[in-house]
Amino acid sequence: SVSIDSIHKNYGATSVLRGVSLSIADGEFLTLLGPSGCGKSTLLRILAGLEVQDAGSLSIGERAVDNLRPKCRDVAMVFQSYALYPHMTVASNMGLPLRMRRLSTFERLPLLGRLLPGTARIAAEIDAEVTRTAKSLGIGHLLARKPGQLSGGQRQRVAVGRAMVRHPAVFLMDEPLSNLDAKLRVQMRAEIKELHQRLGVTFVYVTHDQAEAMTLSDRVAVMLDGELLQVAPPQEIYADPDDRRVAEFIGSPK
Ligand code: ATP
Ligand code: MG
Repeated sequence: SVSIDSIHKNYGATSVLRGVSLSIADGEFLTLLGPSGCGKSTLLRILAGLEVQDAGSLSIGERAVDNLRPKCRDVAMVFQSYALYPHMTVASNMGLPLRMRRLSTFERLPLLGRLLPGTARIAAEIDAEVTRTAKSLGIGHLLARKPGQLSGGQRQRVAVGRAMVRHPAVFLMDEPLSNLDAKLRVQMRAEIKELHQRLGVTFVYVTHDQAEAMTLSDRVAVMLDGELLQVAPPQEIYADPDDRRVAEFIGSPK
């Protein structure tokens, strides 16, 4: 489970998150939905440990994570921009989190690494995991390519694959489909849903696309100006908005 308790965040004089609290159950698909600038990415980055809150606390899997570095938090993040390394192959991009975790600085060097006992075996295990994950995402044939030689949808799958190899308890996805054209976005939506069902882990998903939020989520958290206005299943948000601002944003009849 993920527990977010009274998180505040300011940038200078601007208050970006103003006391956000939210509990997310194990295996739940929770979507943060809200307009541009409302603080969605900031909250996700704080969960990932890429940014530090000014007040409030977080726990992931019953464990307080406020003082844990990103790689110790048991989360993996998929960024809107994918954040792939352009000079590295798909295989290297996907294996990077595992190499960082399992190999020392020296062992990661191509020549020296080969001389050290045990390194070759670990490298082979990482390769096998990357290949298996890539196949499950339909990109097994692209492992030797570089990101510049891929389509947007393929790049998106690589970014998801790089998160998957870590087997995190929680996936954080920040508008992973927003760079895709409308048709592919709908197709990838189904793939993300399928991925969630297959892995059975917690997803915290960020979007400003209502249709995406409504079709994917167990619950939607509607965010505006650094606050959560309503957290409820999609039908309930639509049929019974708590607040005029939610109704306006959702465009529901109320
Ligand atoms: P979008 O849908 O456009 O991605 P968002 O909901 O993800 O928007 P955030 O990126 O969380 O919004 O930003 C929330 C607010 O905080 C914005 O007003 C933004 O300008 C501001 N902000 C974000 N990062 C910083 C920063 N490093 N320094 C100063 N202000 C920032
Ligand atoms: Mg954002």
